[in-house]
Amino acid sequence: MIQSQYTPSKDFQRDVAESYDVIVIGGGPAGATTATLLAEHGHSVLILERSTIPRFHIGESLIPETYWPLKRLGLIDRLKESAFPKKFSVQFVSDGWKESAPFYFDEHNAHESSQTWQVERADFDRMLLDNAISKGVTVRSCAQVLDLIFEDEQVVGVRVKLPGDSDEDTETREIRSRVVCDASGLSTFLANRLGLKNSDPILRKGTVWSYFKGAQRDPGKDEGATLIMQTEGKHSWFWYIPLRDDVVSVGCTGDMHYMFPKGASAEETFARELERCPAMSKRLGKATRCLDFFTTKDYSYRSRQAAGDGWVLVGDAYGFIDPVYSSGVLLALRGGEFVADAVHDALQANDVSGARLGHWKAEFDAGLENFRRLVYAFYAPDFSFGDFLREHPQFKSNLVDVLIGAVFKPGVGDMFDVMGDIRPSPVEPTASEGMAKA
Ligand SMILES: Cc1cc2nc3c(=O)[nH]c(=O)nc-3n(C[C@H](O)[C@H](O)[C@H](O)COP(=O)(O)OP(=O)(O)OC[C@H]3O[C@@H](n4cnc5c(N)ncnc54)[C@H](O)[C@@H]3O)c2cc1C
Repeated sequence: MIQSQYTPSKDFQRDVAESYDVIVIGGGPAGATTATLLAEHGHSVLILERSTIPRFHIGESLIPETYWPLKRLGLIDRLKESAFPKKFSVQFVSDGWKESAPFYFDEHNAHESSQTWQVERADFDRMLLDNAISKGVTVRSCAQVLDLIFEDEQVVGVRVKLPGDSDEDTETREIRSRVVCDASGLSTFLANRLGLKNSDPILRKGTVWSYFKGAQRDPGKDEGATLIMQTEGKHSWFWYIPLRDDVVSVGCTGDMHYMFPKGASAEETFARELERCPAMSKRLGKATRCLDFFTTKDYSYRSRQAAGDGWVLVGDAYGFIDPVYSSGVLLALRGGEFVADAVHDALQANDVSGARLGHWKAEFDAGLENFRRLVYAFYAPDFSFGDFLREHPQFKSNLVDVLIGAVFKPGVGDMFDVMGDIRPSPVEPTASEGMAKA
């Protein structure tokens, strides 16, 4: 594990008022971005985060387009001064062994935004929260939102469990707001309560990951590169994300029933897949594991609604696709911008209807759709990006745009019209799942 540069601070235990303009559930990148931008507009904002801060989180690899929301938040200089490794490229390794040349982002765009970072999320997310506090946001940690308060079908606040004076003490309080913004990540607090979640039947994946120390690193400019390595037979793929202090995050993803057969431990699955990926085994040859194995599964979904009267979703609380293109933090930051602007507009107009709070949905969905189609192509057994570009070289810059995260750029999705609707087969539910649903 990497030692965090922060110790928990009293700022996260500030007194909480009876009401705010906006309550944000969750202090990850989506919640922090939304809250910061709203505070800059002059609104009173409370973030309620159930964990202690800083908290461990998966999702360390940023992509170049995160530069723009991070610039809007005023964080580029802080990132430049940080110890987070610089990331200049991504490299794909197909079928366990064949390494393609790294793809350097600055060959596509010479702007400084083409260099990004590999971040330990505990410290990165804490940096975002510190910034939120400096703009006037109140952040309360160890504060678990239990329920929404409805009046005439409009959300007007939350019920939250707060820590008391001693460890055993807790109090449950009602706090009111004009808008509640759900940024609760994969917990999907609001979408679960309102039954709004649509799982992606094709991307029913499972992941096992851990941290290793002393793995082989590439030299020079490639030292901070993300590597994506498919295993032999393409049943799964590994990520390799170099972090500071000689630590590397390594995870493996495949269809969830393949990854987690009955009785197999996370460690056994990881070892089984590592044998099928010589390129990764080689890199981990002299490394030692420095964290437990973690697992997660069935995390690709989208909410049918983005907003309702008095509430709006942002980040993973709205939807998550798949980790393969490291799109999550970008979508959380960009989503935070979309939602903050919509909430500001709604508060100014004194109209917090769902239509007004969610008017960003169509534009945001179009960007998400570009990632989704690229993810489907990655998992399609008969599709090859190399073959596609040999046949249609004019789409190289569209492909690169999606890889760097420029998914909201007009025309970027044109290549999918030519690529067609590539769909890997849906993952069939197992007999026991079928029975459970029946
Ligand atoms: C296996 C895997 C690998 C990934 N790798 C990458 C990667 O390399 N790069 C990348 O960009 N993205 C990656 N992601 C995605 C990334 O982790 C997320 O997209 C990102 O963290 C979303 O940010 P968020 O703010 O929406 O949610 P989160 O960062 O999850 O924050 C949500 C917060 O809400 C809090 N919360 C939840 N419920 C409550 C409640 N009831 N009350 C109060 N607080 C609550 C949680 O404690 C949490 O702190 C990966 C995801 C997975 C599953």
